Order: sequence, then structure tokens, then C-alpha cells
Amino acid sequence: MSSTKNKSCAVIGAGISGIAASIRMRNKGYEVTVFEANSFAGGKLSTESNKGYRFDMGPSVFTMPEYVDELFLLSKKNPRDYFNYKQLNPVYRYFFENGNVVDSFHGKREYAAEMSKKTGVLESTITKYLDKTEKIYNLTAEVFLHNSLHKFKNYFTKAIAKGLLNFGKIDAFNTMNESNKKGLLHPELVQIFNRYATYNGSSPFLAPATLNVIPYIEIVKGAYYPEGGMYSITESLVRLAKDIGVKFEFNTPVEEIVIEQKKVKGVKLKNSELNFDIVISNMDMYNSYKKLLPKAKQPIKTLNQPKSSSGIIFYWGIKKQFENLKLHNILFSENYKEEFDSIFSKKTIHDDPTIYINITSKYTPSDAPDGCENWFTFINVPNNSGQNWGELIKIAKQNVIKKINRILKVDIEPYIECEIIFDPRVIENRTSSAFGAIYGNSSNNKFAAFLRHPNFSKEINNLYFCGGSVHPGSSIPLCLLSAKITTELIQ
Ligand SMILES: Cc1cc2nc3c(=O)[nH]c(=O)nc-3n(C[C@H](O)[C@H](O)[C@H](O)COP(=O)(O)OP(=O)(O)OC[C@H]3O[C@@H](n4cnc5c(N)ncnc54)[C@H](O)[C@@H]3O)c2cc1C
Repeated sequence: MSSTKNKSCAVIGAGISGIAASIRMRNKGYEVTVFEANSFAGGKLSTESNKGYRFDMGPSVFTMPEYVDELFLLSKKNPRDYFNYKQLNPVYRYFFENGNVVDSFHGKREYAAEMSKKTGVLESTITKYLDKTEKIYNLTAEVFLHNSLHKFKNYFTKAIAKGLLNFGKIDAFNTMNESNKKGLLHPELVQIFNRYATYNGSSPFLAPATLNVIPYIEIVKGAYYPEGGMYSITESLVRLAKDIGVKFEFNTPVEEIVIEQKKVKGVKLKNSELNFDIVISNMDMYNSYKKLLPKAKQPIKTLNQPKSSSGIIFYWGIKKQFENLKLHNILFSENYKEEFDSIFSKKTIHDDPTIYINITSKYTPSDAPDGCENWFTFINVPNNSGQNWGELIKIAKQNVIKKINRILKVDIEPYIECEIIFDPRVIENRTSSAFGAIYGNSSNNKFAAFLRHPNFSKEINNLYFCGGSVHPGSSIPLCLLSAKITTELIQ
């Protein structure tokens, strides 16, 4: 630990970014306390059990594990004493209504070979397209992922200047769908690449093609499975945080961030007020302002940015094992354009939704009883603007079951022995995410990255923000980077 002795830091929220920020601040020598409204850590990255089945409630696809490892190394611990993971290959199995089944393999060559076999598109066309996504990644990572976009001095570093000077090459002026159609030719391959817009809750028909860095990361850099499931990321980081002296206060919602003369003074809890030198809010940015900073100047333009999509998840205990399913499975809708129009224009659920089925018991058999599987069955839906969710869920469940039956040639309903359902309202209540949007602001326009809230307050000294609703955005790796950018801004 360095020597910021006696300085104190409050972190509001034990989401993955809050936990990472607490570890980084502790390593800077601060006395760190994490206040968490729930009785458990992890926020969206949490777990529940039901009748012998265990479920990861949120994220299921894990990329860039190096950012988790980095926190152990920073704390002078061996990551492998806390946390392990293995690389997946194949990563996904895709199912289409016409009976086509395609696996997504790791690595440009293997990926292109399978896709070419199944679609007839030349392998070289596919690898060329992946090369293009790699170039975009190399030009954008420093600009958009590793630094604050809101500090003027950052624009003068070599890597960032290079990224900005090459703005024309990062494909920001085409939508993902436009670029994918031009570069990949086959409708199924285009749909596979378009799907990556959903990784930050956006529509491929609106989001800039710069987001094609997401398939690059997953296909080329790889996707992983953490030993014991996704929740082991939360568990191992909380263990690390506690080992280095971070304090956690669970069941302790922060009610207000106390400000005095444009400077943070501390946090207000139900029955007390505590002083801190630094406050980092990992609470969703919109609600940080609305609920914890009601008297502060509100960044209206930022707060009013359109929010991302949400999800309905049926966590099903299934009394059967399916040999033809993998850890990650996608059952595609026939008309993707209509599906996204339903979500983002009509604010409702398409009657033929793309279904994602994640089954961790394929890798962690103890997640389900013998001969059974734990299905995390997810569809993209609009965020909460007061829809009749009871009715929508009833219809969506019927449509999901019909589609699973049709594509997997099964009658799934009799095998469902238990069920938990999450919808945008549950996500909102459980994690304080505004409107139940899973990924903060949507990226449905080419300037979205610049319109996310900075990692610091421009108005209030010593107040910082981290997590999926601020720069650089949502997902486990980006939330870990958010914590890094935030804490690096703190002298
Ligand atoms: C269904 C689903 C699927 C996803 N799939 C993936 C995926 O496959 N891969 C991936 O990388 N990402 C995925 N994500 C996104 C990823 O989970 C999130 O981006 C990330 O976990 C968000 O972390 P966060 O640190 O922003 O905080 P959150 O997880 O939003 O947690 C915030 C925490 O703050 C607490 N809090 C809020 N207000 C207060 C307060 N006033 N006082 C005290 N505590 C407070 C909350 O209780 C919560 O614990 C998915 C998310 C969901 C929901």
C-alpha cells in the first residue's frame, strides 16, 4: 500500500465495478468502506438457488479475464489462489429456424472455417472482416476503453491522438447492420454479427459499426468460463478486497451524498452521517443524481440520453439433459429488424424473440441435480416505461416455449420443474438501475460513447463515479476498466 494514510473513501454499491474500485483505492492506501443496499455483493453479477439448481442471475459471457487478474496482481496476490477460468471453444451454438446449426469457434481461422462451411461465404471474406474489426479495436481501445474521455490532457497522448486522427477508419458512420451486410454477405452471418449490439443493449440497425470490436474481442481474444460459474468473479474479488482490508457494510443503502461548499463531505445512511474524503458512486448514474444528489446541479443532457434495452429471464430448473446444447446457445428470430423495432420503437416484445439459453451445469454439474440442467433463458426487451409486464411476460413465455419446442424438437414445458422470473422491474429494484435498463445508456448513436457521464463530477470535488452507467460503459470488462479509470483520476 502507498502512503495516503488516514484518508478515507466510501464506495456506494458492491457491483463489480464498486468492488474493483474498492480494491484499487485500498491499494492506494485509503481506508475503504463499501456500502451495499443488498444483503449480498455483485449487483447484477449475483447468484440465486432454487430447488437444487444454482443460477448466475446476470452476466454469463466472460471476456478479458486479464482485467480480473490485474486486481490480484495489483494487490500482490496470486490470482490462481482465488480465481480460475478456462477458455471456451466453441463459444456459442447458433440455431436458425430453417434448421441450420452453426458453432462459433475461437480464433479467426477456426471461426471462418466453420462459418464458411455453413454459409458458403469464402473463408477469406470472413477473416478479412475479422481483420477489419481488429484494426478498429486497435484504434479505439486506448481512446474509448482505457482513459477518461473527459480530461482534456488525455487528448494529447500519442495513442489517443492516433485514435482520434483515424476517426474515419473506425466505421462510426455506418450502422453495424450496414457494415456487416457489406462485409459478410450471408444473412445468417450478418445476423450473428448484428447480435453483438445487444451486448450493450443497443440495436444493430442504429448502433455504429465501431461496436464490431465486440465480436473481435469474443471471437479472436476469446471467451472464458470461470470455475464455479460467473458468481465466482464476485466471490473471489470480495474475498480479495476483504483480505487487503476493505470493509463491507451490507443491507446499508446510502440515502444521500453529503456535499459542503462544492466538496464531498461524506454519506448519509438511515440513522447516521459518516465523513469521507472521497466518495465513489457505483450506483447507476441516473439514480445517483436523482436519489443521492437531489440538490446538486443535474447534468440534464447526460441524464436524458436514451437508455439501453432490458431483459426478461426465465431461470428454469429442467428435468432433462440436452446433448445438442452447449454452455451458450442462441435461437435466432426470423426477422431481426422487426425484433429491434419492437424493442426500441414500439417498446414492446417481438412475438418471435431471439432466445439465449445459458446452461452452466454443462461445466459445473453441481449447478443442477443429476440428469438435469439449469437454464438461464433470456430475451431482450425494452426498458421499463410502465408497460403491463404481467401480461407481456405471460405472452413472452408462451412464445419462448413455442420457439424452443419448434427449434429443439421437444415439448419443454413438462421438464420445467422450477422457475424464477426477472423482468425490468426486478432488475431496477434489485440493482437501482434506472428503468431496469441493463447497460446504462444505449449506444444507438455514433456519439453515445462521448455522451456517457464522466468518471468524476465536474461540479463537486472528490466525487467520482464508476460502473456500467458511466464511461466506458457496461459489461464486466468495461466495469473493471471503469473502476481503473476512476481511481487513476484520484491523486
Ligand atoms: C441479465 C444480464 C445479463 C448480462 N450479461 C452480461 C454478459 O454476458 N457479460 C458481461 O460482461 N456483462 C453482462 N451484463 C452486464 C453486467 O452485468 C453489468 O454491466 C455489470 O455487472 C454492472 O456492474 P456495476 O458495477 O455497474 O454495478 P451493478 O451490478 O449495477 O451494481 C450496483 C450495486 O450498487 C448497489 N446500490 C445501488 N444504489 C445503492 C445505494 N444508494 N446504496 C448502497 N448500494 C447501492 C446495488 O444494490 C448494486 O449491488 C449482464 C447484465 C444482466 C442484468
